[in-house]
Amino acid sequence: MTLSPLEKTGILIEALPYIRQFYGKTVVIKYGGHAMVNCELKKAVMQDAVLMHLVGMRPVIVHGGGPEITSMLGRLGKQSQFIQGQRVTDAETMEIVEMVLVGKINKEIVANIHRYGGKAIGLCGKDGHLIEARKQVAHIQKDGEEMDLDLGYVGQVERVNPGIIETVIAEGYIPVVAPIGVGPDGESYNINADLVAGELAVALQADKLVLLTDVEGILADRDDPASLISSLEVGRVPELIQQGVIAGGMIPKVNCCIRALEGGVKKTHIIDGRIPHSILLEVFTDTGVGTMVVPG
Ligand code: ADP
Ligand code: MG
Repeated sequence: MTLSPLEKTGILIEALPYIRQFYGKTVVIKYGGHAMVNCELKKAVMQDAVLMHLVGMRPVIVHGGGPEITSMLGRLGKQSQFIQGQRVTDAETMEIVEMVLVGKINKEIVANIHRYGGKAIGLCGKDGHLIEARKQVAHIQKDGEEMDLDLGYVGQVERVNPGIIETVIAEGYIPVVAPIGVGPDGESYNINADLVAGELAVALQADKLVLLTDVEGILADRDDPASLISSLEVGRVPELIQQGVIAGGMIPKVNCCIRALEGGVKKTHIIDGRIPHSILLEVFTDTGVGTMVVPG
């Protein structure tokens, strides 16, 4: 598709009010799923972050890495056990998780941002004591009884110390955060990246939280992409979870949007990371590309 000069300038001018509105504002982006694997999508996400940064926004990237962790564990001959969607993480698994997330994925993202014209610094929860974590105790139902479940080094966020993020942003870099938390004795915890993104958005009092995923957004019927719920009120969520409409990996996502809204983040979105430049579409245009979770 070739655009005429008028169409090109039209697109730029359409973005003007959004650029003004978000100038100097913080946007936390959870980067995961397909957009981390597919080359074209990877490039598009990096370009989106660079563009946002260059027009005066403060993007902060939090990344996942489940598939790469699974593949590395496989190469090392270690099988992961999943209980209710969560990886049981023993000490040896934790070591590998940390190496992959912090040593490999995080640095690749940083290098790619530089490749596409931006400046980035990679951090994990240990840097500047950014994310203090504690062990997460999971509860499961077994034979009609509630049981505690030991998932090993799976953590939840205890506290965020956003100082290092502010420093990195003030120095002109895009912070890229790996979802590893640090425990009281300096031990590492693997934390769901959606949760980290939500807590970070609260700690930074972000204007927007954007969670990328591999579906259209929250669907009323998971088998029907046309059933996208474009705007979802917080009050409807418990019922949708109870009915099983929202399930699996979508639960931490929607909960973290709710937590973010309660914590003062202005807007929260779950968007389709399979659409190239879905972040730009969300931030700079009127086009809806997913589900906006809203108070009410
Ligand atoms: P991510 O890598 O983006 O964190 P997850 O697999 O953890 O992806 O979470 C997204 C998944 O949640 C979807 O792929 C889908 O299978 C599942 N899901 C559960 N309920 C819904 C729903 N109501 N709408 C869309 N997806 C849902
Ligand atoms: Mg997930």
